[in-house]
Amino acid sequence: MTSIIDFYNHELDVADNFASKAFDRMRQDGIPPVPQNFEVLYVYYANVNPKLRDEINEILLDQPKITERDCKDLYEKYLNSGHERETYQRAGDQINSTLHHVSDLMQNVKDTTQKFTGSLQEASGKLENIDVSDDVKSVLNFISSETNNMMKYNQDLEQRLDQSSAMMAELKRDMERIRQQAITDGLTGLANRKAFDEQIGRILRECKRDNMIFSLIMIDIDHFKSFNDKYGHQVGDQVLRLVAMTLVNEVKGQDMAARYGGEEFAIILPDTNENAARAVAENLRKAVEKKEVINRATGDNLGQITVSLGVAQFYGGSEVTEDLIRRADMALYSSKNKGRNQVSVAPSPHEMNK
Ligand code: GH3
Ligand code: MG
Ligand code: MG
Repeated sequence: MTSIIDFYNHELDVADNFASKAFDRMRQDGIPPVPQNFEVLYVYYANVNPKLRDEINEILLDQPKITERDCKDLYEKYLNSGHERETYQRAGDQINSTLHHVSDLMQNVKDTTQKFTGSLQEASGKLENIDVSDDVKSVLNFISSETNNMMKYNQDLEQRLDQSSAMMAELKRDMERIRQQAITDGLTGLANRKAFDEQIGRILRECKRDNMIFSLIMIDIDHFKSFNDKYGHQVGDQVLRLVAMTLVNEVKGQDMAARYGGEEFAIILPDTNENAARAVAENLRKAVEKKEVINRATGDNLGQITVSLGVAQFYGGSEVTEDLIRRADMALYSSKNKGRNQVSVAPSPHEMNK
């Protein structure tokens, strides 16, 4: 694993300069001076991660300050999970290229040996027709048996190589599984909160850059606590899985469904306005309402479950992820207040400021 320390191999006065700039920025922008924020800004000023630097520069085109939230997103993306992921990716790529290299070499050895054996057989065939001394014959026999040995050795090597490549492939699969686990919710199999945070940060930045829109739906199961209290945690978990499955069935293409927390879910819909998102939310609401909850253990029908939903569209401009999520949450709570089992759409930031 390459160490992140490599990044920071600066002379004291140079490092001091980057550190001062990072501190000044935190003070100026009102970012708490904790190590993670410091690291993001240090990396920015030291320019040791061009992608992080580009992204901060892009953010600064849109807004005058870097926020604590930006720092958190950038840290997750480039210095924490991002780093982890890149390391996995790099390790995987390295394994692949080593495998290719070694099997290319093996193929070369095999080809050369086969060619050599062919030439040798051809030569000994020719020699059989002419009168050669016993000495020459015995030398030929010797060469021929050595070649056979070499072929056997090669076959053995090939077999061992096959075994190692199977092992390396398994290692690669393991690494991929670990990577997947890190971004998946164990109970429902949906994307987890961490994956959601990363994705919403990414799409918001992309939309700002490309002048695009997207929508967010927040979903909360109605009266889940009483359901849990009445039937127990395990049945509660079963309901969570049922709702998650319904989301997966209703959500298509590039949309992402995630477990936001407890009994709350979120869907990110790229390139989708609030009307289209409202329609998706309404379909979801109906699909959940239609499901019957059967207690697996007893076979009892536990009746209906419903969800309340809040939709918010990102309109562009300077809105940050936290504010967009807050608007979707407000819409969700207005669905709750209006009696649950319904969809509400949040006013735009512009309307909210009126
Ligand atoms: P409302 O209609 O207002 O949303 O009411 P509610 O009861 O759904 O809301 P509240 O937030 O009060 O309760 C959420 C409950 O969700 C609390 C907790 O018991 C339950 N819960 C959270 N996470 C899990 C989980 O992983 N498994 C199970 N079984 N229950 C969970
Ligand atoms: Mg809740
Ligand atoms: Mg609830």
